[in-house]
Amino acid sequence: MEINELYRQLDIDDDVYEYSCAKLAGLKDRFDRIDETAEFNQLKVLDALRECRVSEACFSMSTGYGYNDIGRDTLERVYAHIFKTEDALVRPQITCGTHALNVALSSNLRPGDELLSPVGKPYDTLEEVIGIRPSCGSLKEYGVSYRQVDLKEDGSFDYDGIRNAINERTRMVTIQRSKGYQTRPTLSVGEICELISFIKGIKKDVICMVDNCYGEFVERTEPSQGGADMIVGSLIKNPGGGLAPVGGYIAGTRECIEKAAYRLTSPGLGKEVGASLNVIQSFYQGLFLAPTVVSSALKGAIFAANMLKGIGFSVYPEPETERHDIIQAVTLGSAEGVISFCKGIQAAAPVDSFVTPEPWAMPGYDSDVIMAAGAFVSGSSIELSADGPIKEPYNVYFQGGLTFPHVKYGIMRAVQQLKNDGLVKPYVFNIS
Ligand SMILES: *Cc1c(COP(=O)(O)O)cnc(C)c1O
Repeated sequence: MEINELYRQLDIDDDVYEYSCAKLAGLKDRFDRIDETAEFNQLKVLDALRECRVSEACFSMSTGYGYNDIGRDTLERVYAHIFKTEDALVRPQITCGTHALNVALSSNLRPGDELLSPVGKPYDTLEEVIGIRPSCGSLKEYGVSYRQVDLKEDGSFDYDGIRNAINERTRMVTIQRSKGYQTRPTLSVGEICELISFIKGIKKDVICMVDNCYGEFVERTEPSQGGADMIVGSLIKNPGGGLAPVGGYIAGTRECIEKAAYRLTSPGLGKEVGASLNVIQSFYQGLFLAPTVVSSALKGAIFAANMLKGIGFSVYPEPETERHDIIQAVTLGSAEGVISFCKGIQAAAPVDSFVTPEPWAMPGYDSDVIMAAGAFVSGSSIELSADGPIKEPYNVYFQGGLTFPHVKYGIMRAVQQLKNDGLVKPYVFNIS
């Protein structure tokens, strides 16, 4: 059987198949460079696993209090080694990325302190953590104030604004690496490090935290190698490699991690407790796979940008743009477009392919959100997934993919769905 016949069997029309072949042909050099980064990061991870002497004993689970859990403690050393930090907290008890960020923030801020975001509005769910939107238990309720300096029109840092915003109460700075649900540039590690050194030049002891979600292993270095005191992320995104079923991490200075641990568990207990249950092996194995999984996701994002732009949709970042995270935004321009795209991604899923996604009021978001995710791990967005808030300008955010052939099919299927639903004209697939 020829592969195009198999694609036909999987509901891809010949014109969509041929169109995708043409788009892919132009991406070879780009993909080679992504593979080189994956090779670099694979060696970095392997080096850490070897240096920390990971052994089979690390995979045995602990229960109850989890005292002296060598699997957990060793894994935290592995993370610290990879991210070049003094210490790390990597736990299944950290329920998600928002939780990890909340722990990092609330543990290192005290009443009367001020938190500054020098890169504009943070990720939607952090609005409630900080208290930008009134919320029970927010930092604001505990007397922590917040200030924000937006990026300039062209996406660059507003250095004057940042200098003016830093005051005697500024205790912590939060920098979001990925664009999240916004159309602004994702920051490169280089840009983040420049920003941090500017801020520390004004106030030396300010704690700089980077929301590293979706950024891990996209580049060869991480923000912790250029001055960030803490980097924070979710294990059902990049560093879990698709295998971690839950969890989050915080990597950073000994002092920041110690405070975070006392907050996560309890004053007096800190890192000493926290059973690893039976998930610890998947944390190791997922981390081991993460560099190549991230490379598949990156290739998928670039392929998606080329495919969607070619049939007339605005995409962000542009197909040629250097990548600093795995997210691709596509402006579908209508609720129908967002829903159609997500239906296509869902139909391409290995799990729940027969399900039709619908917009719903997801906790933590201020508009209905539609999500396409037929994932092995519920809600995992390192697996092929797409989501979009049902509001102007009707963007869909597309990310993940554990293998490139799967992401490739997912994008083809999404484009096919747009065609089936009459949202693109059939002639757009004629490439000449
Ligand atoms: C996903 C994400 C978060 C929140 O993570 P959850 O696991 O969904 O709670 C925070 N910031 C950014 C930039 C993210 O991408």
